[in-house]
Amino acid sequence: MTQATTHEFKAETKQVLDIVVNSLYKDKEIFVRELISNASDALEKLRRTQLTEKDILDDNLELEINLSTDDSAKQLIIQDFGIGMTEEELVKNLGTIAHSGSKEFLNALQSEGEKNESLIGKFGVGFYSVFMVSDSVKAYTRTWQKEGEGLCWESDGSGGYSIDKTDGQRRGTKIVIQLKDEFEEFSKEDRIKDIVKKYSAFVQFPVSVNGEKVNTVDAIWLRSKSEIKDEEYEEFYKFQSNDYDSPLMRLHFSADAPLEINSLLFVPKRNMEKMGMFRSENKVALHCRKVLIDAEPKSLFPEWLRFLKGVVDSSDIPLNVSRETMQDSELLKKLGQVLTKRFLRFLNEQAKKEEDTFLEFWKEYGVLLKEGVATDFTYKDDLAKLLRFESTAAEDGKLTGLEAYIDRMAADQKDILFLYGKNRKAIESGPYLEALQARGYEVLLLTEPVDEYVMQSLREFKEKKIISADSDELKLEKLDQEPTGEALDEKAVKKLSKWIKQSLEDRVSEVETGERLINSPVCVVGEDGMGGASARRIMKMMQGPEGEMPASKVKFQINPNHAIIHGLFKLMEKDEPTALLVANQLLDNALASANLLDDPREMIARSYQTLEKLTTV
Ligand code: ADP
Ligand code: MG
Repeated sequence: MTQATTHEFKAETKQVLDIVVNSLYKDKEIFVRELISNASDALEKLRRTQLTEKDILDDNLELEINLSTDDSAKQLIIQDFGIGMTEEELVKNLGTIAHSGSKEFLNALQSEGEKNESLIGKFGVGFYSVFMVSDSVKAYTRTWQKEGEGLCWESDGSGGYSIDKTDGQRRGTKIVIQLKDEFEEFSKEDRIKDIVKKYSAFVQFPVSVNGEKVNTVDAIWLRSKSEIKDEEYEEFYKFQSNDYDSPLMRLHFSADAPLEINSLLFVPKRNMEKMGMFRSENKVALHCRKVLIDAEPKSLFPEWLRFLKGVVDSSDIPLNVSRETMQDSELLKKLGQVLTKRFLRFLNEQAKKEEDTFLEFWKEYGVLLKEGVATDFTYKDDLAKLLRFESTAAEDGKLTGLEAYIDRMAADQKDILFLYGKNRKAIESGPYLEALQARGYEVLLLTEPVDEYVMQSLREFKEKKIISADSDELKLEKLDQEPTGEALDEKAVKKLSKWIKQSLEDRVSEVETGERLINSPVCVVGEDGMGGASARRIMKMMQGPEGEMPASKVKFQINPNHAIIHGLFKLMEKDEPTALLVANQLLDNALASANLLDDPREMIARSYQTLEKLTTV
């Protein structure tokens, strides 16, 4: 055997090594992940080389990764039949910092103000992580090129390394790790199996520990869509999300810019949260080139997408970033944003192409999309497109969206209108729809208590204001068509209005003749802002049934063409106490129609007084 050549590590490499070895890296086990990831990369490179090269050494060797443990010798061996390294490559790859993360690490180290401790764990240190746990490391390697030779690189991770020739080496690389006494756990089969299962379940190549295959699923998300059968997707989904059912939707997509991403996202058939089970946890595993970084990254997707399952793989993620630093990394945020945008676009496409599936999705997860609109400004516009409501333009039970609404809008209609009520019938029987329908305006019918809050958060869509049809923000032009019934003359209306305002001083802020009323005698119109009808209902919703609402005044609209208003005018002149009872009752009815009657007890008391009057003859 020839004399081994000895080399000094480059200064910067020494620096990194020193920090890695002496820092308190919490998860020592990540070195296994690093080495498996390198082995997997080497196999992938060989696989790609095989596509173009014919003359490959040991071409019959399986593309697999074998780990073996020897606890009596305190050794762990990780072997791959990958691309291997030439002497030049050994010097370049293991002798200097090859890992991009390490370079960034050093740059950050050199920049002012940064504390070493806070930096450790922020960057991947790749191969060198093995020196955290070992006294010495040997890397046996042989390149795929037939004219290459077997080599043994050896180092204790301090000053330098040596390279020697070695016989009988097959293609690929074998890392022999002599563990420090305190880390002998890594020479135990069970411990290593657990680590491999945890981090490498989706490594595309088979991984075995002491001859037993450990990983079961291949990295399906890295394959091209056209090659993957539906059953394969399903199996993967079930494995990954522990679901018995097949998924409702899936999105398999890849991108190169702004980030390199391969991702496979699934929507489960059922929203467990809706079934009152528990709060869903986002289970989209984060991978970097097949190696698991974090099975449940907390901040990748926004909260309202917590039902998503699947995998995201991006080679832009540094391999061994610690979980804690990953949570708030800019990269993760960026990745999450790209994925969220893409997923919302996908939903929008589904809504058009696969409407039934989308509506099923809406039924299950609509409530979470609404949560998104109300809590997350970033995706408001994209989310708004997905909202679905009942509408006066759609038959009972059918839903429509805001885009379709705008397409149907009457030429003179400025705003998107909605009304809230307990159910469709309740809204239809209220006093507000008539004026809008007479003008040919469509009204969205909101029946979930949260809907109004969602609309308030949204405020506008495609430059159209979204307003409640019972708010005074809605300005209506006079109708061309003749009103039915004879109108009370102007003087009488003035007198009546003034009287009502005075008599109901505590309850109404203004009395006006409504251009909204056609067949109903009265209605109330909420003022915009806090204290407005919508806002009051929302506050009520948030406080629950027990909540105390401060009394607030409403605008009271009366219909001068209506027989009851004519009657009220006459009564006012003749029998004021009775007229007062009627006026109060009318206001009660109007408030009830607007879902604003806070305490029905008062109304019932008043109503009895009226009845008493009527029945005492
Ligand atoms: P990274 O994997 O990010 O490049 P590492 O520090 O993990 O950084 O590895 C440094 C380099 O060493 C790799 O880029 C690769 O060229 C080489 N290398 C490491 N392990 C192997 C291996 N098992 N087979 C072939 N080359 C390897
Ligand atoms: Mg690596």
